[in-house]
Amino acid sequence: MKHIVIVGGGAAGLISAIYSKTNNNIVTILERNSSCGKKILATGNGKCNYWNDDQNINHYHSTNNELLPRIITKELIEEVPAFFNNLGIVPKIKNGYYYPFSNQATTIKNALLNEIENKKIKIRHDVLVNKITKKDNYFEIETENEIIKADKVIIATGSCASPKTGSDGIGYKLLKRFNHNIIEPYPALVQLKTKGSYLKEWAGVRTDVKVSLYEDNNLIKEESGEIQLTDYGISGICIFNLSRYIPLGLNKGKKEEIVINFLPFIENNNVKDLFKNNNSLKHQLEAILNNKLVNVILRKTNINEKLSFNELNQNEQELLIENLINFKVEVIGYNSFDNSQTASGGLSLTEINPDTMESTLVKGLYIVGELLDVDGDCGGYNLGFAWMSGMKAGKDISTND
Ligand SMILES: Cc1cc2nc3c(=O)[nH]c(=O)nc-3n(C[C@H](O)[C@H](O)[C@H](O)COP(=O)(O)OP(=O)(O)OC[C@H]3O[C@@H](n4cnc5c(N)ncnc54)[C@H](O)[C@@H]3O)c2cc1C
Repeated sequence: MKHIVIVGGGAAGLISAIYSKTNNNIVTILERNSSCGKKILATGNGKCNYWNDDQNINHYHSTNNELLPRIITKELIEEVPAFFNNLGIVPKIKNGYYYPFSNQATTIKNALLNEIENKKIKIRHDVLVNKITKKDNYFEIETENEIIKADKVIIATGSCASPKTGSDGIGYKLLKRFNHNIIEPYPALVQLKTKGSYLKEWAGVRTDVKVSLYEDNNLIKEESGEIQLTDYGISGICIFNLSRYIPLGLNKGKKEEIVINFLPFIENNNVKDLFKNNNSLKHQLEAILNNKLVNVILRKTNINEKLSFNELNQNEQELLIENLINFKVEVIGYNSFDNSQTASGGLSLTEINPDTMESTLVKGLYIVGELLDVDGDCGGYNLGFAWMSGMKAGKDISTND
């Protein structure tokens, strides 16, 4: 009989516990909070977007992208939604995005905890793990009050994103003691700070756009969707999906620029058609865009709002169109881990076996979830990675116990 200890009772820890449990071993989860799955409750605005049908590998990011297909396998892609169905969850699928039909994240958390109870997996709450040491053929796990022995350990402590949910980066310290290499973590899926004297003016506007991220004038990624304009910069899901590149680029001294197309519904060549009538510019633009945004664009171009489009000279017409479809904002920063949904960086994938999630430096030590150098796009990909990596570790342990 073996004792498996899982450090951290978040998404990855809970699922790896379920998959580790066999009749021949005892599984214990050590969780620092007074309850497990605190972050699960915050996901998807409390509705938990737990999976996505579109499992294109490009939705996942790592310094070692080439290793991702060994973790995100066809087998697991089929197994994750089936696993949740078997727990009794009825999915509500919108454009491939999975939510529980209840619209409540607590449904996912409770279904996992129910399975944990059925499988007689022990959870110990309010237990903070400070240190893990490998002895000859077992581990010593040091908490504030005691030393717990284990034959195998899964570390599932998360990254340092959203530390109020319990993931404050302590997992990196636990791994560094084993001489593991941590790729510097940065906030990802986070709001961006931008330059501009007009920020207070456009704050509060939400509008559908196409956004393109340029790094030193090279196109990196494009996204479409709703953007939120704020008094410090820009936010919204499409901005989140560009954000992982910003800290890395800014730290290397690169120029990070986002180009916003405020008229994504019309071909660029046809924008002039919007001004066929002789309405004043202000009147015509306010028929299409939020009035706060119209003021910002007209002030930026310094064009007389009372004129009609046809009364502008060619330079003015081009300037106006440029600011409507290629509005450039320079990104000068990003919000902190307190606001980010995930982190780029973490334990290098080169230091685990991506077929099992076992450390290549320490036999019997497994690492899963956001603690690893993998971050996903918005849309269920971060939980997706937590489920798949947790399943992988659990399967390896349960078949080799
Ligand atoms: C606001 C918000 C919304 C999100 N929405 C979505 C979404 O809709 N879809 C999606 O796919 N992803 C979403 N994410 C991301 C997703 O929630 C995470 O990627 C995922 O939960 C990570 O799971 P994890 O188990 O690796 O880490 P965590 O969920 O962070 O769990 C780590 C656990 O370990 C515990 N712990 C840490 N250190 C110790 C220690 N030393 N001793 C004992 N316990 C410890 C923590 O208390 C915590 O319970 C969202 C994130 C946030 C913050």
